[in-house]
Amino acid sequence: MKTSTKQPLLTVNRLTKHFHIKRGFPKSVSYTVKAVDDVSFHVNRKEAFGLAGESGCGKSTVGRCVLRLIEPDSGQVFLQNTDITGLNNQELRSIRKKMQIIFQDPYSSLNPRRTIGQTLEEPMRVHKLCENDNIRDIVIDLLENVGLSAGVIDKYPHEFSGGQRQRVGIARALLFNPELIVADEAVSALDVSIQMQILQLLQNLKEKLSLSYLFISHDLAVVRYFCQRVAIMYLGKFVELGSVSQIFDEPLHPYTLTLRNASPIPDPSIEQAFAQLKGEVPSPISPPQGCHFHPRCAKAKDICSREYPKWIELGKGRGVACHLYG
Ligand code: SF4
Repeated sequence: MKTSTKQPLLTVNRLTKHFHIKRGFPKSVSYTVKAVDDVSFHVNRKEAFGLAGESGCGKSTVGRCVLRLIEPDSGQVFLQNTDITGLNNQELRSIRKKMQIIFQDPYSSLNPRRTIGQTLEEPMRVHKLCENDNIRDIVIDLLENVGLSAGVIDKYPHEFSGGQRQRVGIARALLFNPELIVADEAVSALDVSIQMQILQLLQNLKEKLSLSYLFISHDLAVVRYFCQRVAIMYLGKFVELGSVSQIFDEPLHPYTLTLRNASPIPDPSIEQAFAQLKGEVPSPISPPQGCHFHPRCAKAKDICSREYPKWIELGKGRGVACHLYG
């Protein structure tokens, strides 16, 4: 069946995930952390959609809920027409081949006692992806596709640099010919020069294999370089969503504006006013009443401390949650 190129590859509707924790001794008190609170977005085919925000804002939880590595409390996640939130384990295993993840630290997800060849060959055998005789050749092809030579196949993870290990992580994500890759801080732990190489590799693979990315990063400069659209998160909620040019050239939400102004633009011809966010991110256990950003917002009004702003659609795929608009 031919699939419409206009239909989003991934559609997320009103996704919510709350964690319930207990603290204190001898009498413990229960708290609820709204890690992801009513979040909706879509990722088009061959698109890199960015999720950005400070650490702890819930962006990684969104990525894991999308893959059902964490069970969402409510909401729907569609891969094309399939609602993956309603799938049983067997159906989920099958659809997960189309949705893979690249982690920030590939070292911790590689078995130090297995060679890279063993690590990559085993899932192919288990899932009977091809004839046993062909597996080694396919793994060598895969390694070459991510910029590693055939000679590394018998090496162990500790023999690789950080950048090479991330290439192995990417090769592992490609084993099942996925359509969507969740890249969770995939370049954050790498040196800047290596970051660029890995981003270029991901970009080339996107073109060559028609991949789509849900690209999660706290680094706005990286998101600006790599993504076509981006959502900004703050304490579990989207505060602004739009194309990269809308978000970075004309940010509307005061949080987006401050984040943008704190992130360097790699162009000496552009004069930039650096700004710092005042205060810490509030505890997600007890977020401020009203707009969660109001204690740090230079433009806060009376209503901001009383009511959480509604999400407003501004057309052309742009949205914002702020009392300054609508
Ligand atoms: Fe600032 Fe109010 Fe907008 Fe929140 S709703 S970002 S406090 S102006």
